[in-house]
Amino acid sequence: MEYSTLRVKDVIKDFHPGGRLAQHSSGECMDAAGFGLFLKTYLEVDDFPADFCQRLFRYFQNTEQDGNTKRGVFLRDVSCYFSVLEEGQPREKLEFTFKLYDKDCNGLLDSSEVDRIITQMMRAADYLGWDVTELRPVLKDMMTAIDVDDSGTVTLEEWVKGGMNNAPLLMTERDGQHIWRMKHFNKPTYCSVCQGMLLGLGKQGLCCNCCKYIVHNQCANKNPEPCARTFVKSKKEIGVAAHDWIRADCNSTKCQVCHKKIKTLAGRHCVWCQEMRHDECLSGLPSCDCGPLRDHILPPWAIYSVSKEEDTSLLNVTPDGHILQIVPVADTHPLLVFVNPKSGGKQGERVLRKFQYLLNPRQVYNLSNGGPAPGLQFFHNMREYRILVCGGDGTVGWLLDAIDKADLQVNPPVAVLPLGTGNDLARCLRWGGGYEGSDLREILKEIEGSETVPLDRWSIQVIPEDPQEAGDPVPYEIINNYFSIGVDASIAHRFHSMREKHPQSLAFSIVHKPNNLLLCFHQCGGKHLDLSSMSLEGIAVLNIPSMHGGSNLWGESKKADGMPDMERSGVITDPEFLKAISQDISDKRLEIVGLEGAIEMGQIYTGLKSAGKRLGQTSQITIRTTKALPMQIDGEPWMQPPCTIHINHKNQANMLMAAPTKLSGFFHLK
Ligand SMILES: [Zn+2]
Ligand SMILES: [Zn+2]
Ligand SMILES: [Zn+2]
Ligand SMILES: [Zn+2]
Repeated sequence: MEYSTLRVKDVIKDFHPGGRLAQHSSGECMDAAGFGLFLKTYLEVDDFPADFCQRLFRYFQNTEQDGNTKRGVFLRDVSCYFSVLEEGQPREKLEFTFKLYDKDCNGLLDSSEVDRIITQMMRAADYLGWDVTELRPVLKDMMTAIDVDDSGTVTLEEWVKGGMNNAPLLMTERDGQHIWRMKHFNKPTYCSVCQGMLLGLGKQGLCCNCCKYIVHNQCANKNPEPCARTFVKSKKEIGVAAHDWIRADCNSTKCQVCHKKIKTLAGRHCVWCQEMRHDECLSGLPSCDCGPLRDHILPPWAIYSVSKEEDTSLLNVTPDGHILQIVPVADTHPLLVFVNPKSGGKQGERVLRKFQYLLNPRQVYNLSNGGPAPGLQFFHNMREYRILVCGGDGTVGWLLDAIDKADLQVNPPVAVLPLGTGNDLARCLRWGGGYEGSDLREILKEIEGSETVPLDRWSIQVIPEDPQEAGDPVPYEIINNYFSIGVDASIAHRFHSMREKHPQSLAFSIVHKPNNLLLCFHQCGGKHLDLSSMSLEGIAVLNIPSMHGGSNLWGESKKADGMPDMERSGVITDPEFLKAISQDISDKRLEIVGLEGAIEMGQIYTGLKSAGKRLGQTSQITIRTTKALPMQIDGEPWMQPPCTIHINHKNQANMLMAAPTKLSGFFHLK
């Protein structure tokens, strides 16, 4: 697919009085139908998805603060946004945006007009994956700096000069374009364009996420060398393993060809194999082997851009308009990485950036941009690959659901990099309770040494007794970790609502006494367990041996002497039998535990008591409740009116479990 040949400024003319689409604009606004036509014309796409079009329309609507133009969007805002993203020279773009906002054509912009341009630039930057919170103050400063004579208004000349020197985002996201990020350098660092030192405090310059090329803010528009390739242009180049040499501060490292030290800015590194060489030592020597991360990397020579004529039904279209097809390198297992940037504070964003550098950015997906579907679609035809999910247990569940729905050729094994806290599933798979900033290359090595284990997944159906009486919505339809009713869920529920209202307060008390639970284990004719005679305040149904960040409600099991190899089928409720049963995430069975009260729960959470009361193990459960009770699935609590609950085995997901070697260091298994 080629870039659109039409320019924003040409398309927008249709909307001016007397133009082809003038009936869709009134004054400075265009209506929703007009907006749809604009997108179709500008992007040259016939069947633009209607929902996407609507969302985009609302996106532009939201800027309206004046209230009286609720129905339309400003022609200027739309044009400014698309022209910033358009291919072209920065100067041209700056002149264009200036003219758009200079309504009275007096050759001056006032501060409110400048503010509106900044808003559109921020949106474009957001689309390009910039950290917008960092960008806003920079753009503000830039605007102040632009108004050199401090007149409160900006002339075209001031605008173009200031923009050229300060706004590195006036470029399109194309292959070969760096993905800039503002960065603070704590040792002397040099610009790869002008070779000058980066000076000042704070964030002194820009560093590319993908290749670590470093420049001054003002040098980003001065023809920097291109970024590393992420794919090749034609099928002919598939399999041609060529190094991608990027100018770098080699910091006195030895050249791998002549073994002499490389001076500042006198050498380059290959972004795939990480080798470093002098400029004059670049030619010769064998092709790129992708270095220590070879097994995980999907190199550019494994992805090609197909032409329109080829069958494009199963292919991936990138945001910048290339249709890409993967031809995997033999004996590798490219890692498809999904990062939830919102997990674990800023850690998610950091992990995203680091993987974009360590691997090919084409194999690293930000879950905030369209969820797991685009990545799964891109790898759709692959057979040998692994998935890494970076986020909390909720993110892992999201991805497993997406894999179910994606109808893939293989069921790819999934590793977890736990972000944030809790993360019971990650603990059970030996990936630890939370990533603490260790070297991601180490983690990639651990993934290579991990083994695949099937993880049972359970479908849960909650049928309210009175369909009219709607409680809170049930958070999930699938249990990956655990489900509980009563005291445990109550703690979770109160903690959850308390955290929302009073984030500082941890005090809670338990009020529910759920004596009216009736629990039925269904199988082989069914067995009933009437809990009304026991003094329980809750039950928990466990799939994995960890809950609420490492508590084990089932507890350890000793291999009982003299106990025959147990028939692990049907319903087991015999207390003696239960003593010897240990948990297994792949046995298609669930463990049920009775919980006596808040004090006991507290003791289990703090490690004073090892477990709850073992009630049974089975593969199918029906629970009937007779009053409203707090419940929770995988840590998500809700209040549920009387109901019947059915829990059945759904399927198994392929998970990767780390080797049981390290108990120290950044990862620990609690
Ligand atoms: Zn780059
Ligand atoms: Zn420079
Ligand atoms: Zn290389
Ligand atoms: Zn050399």
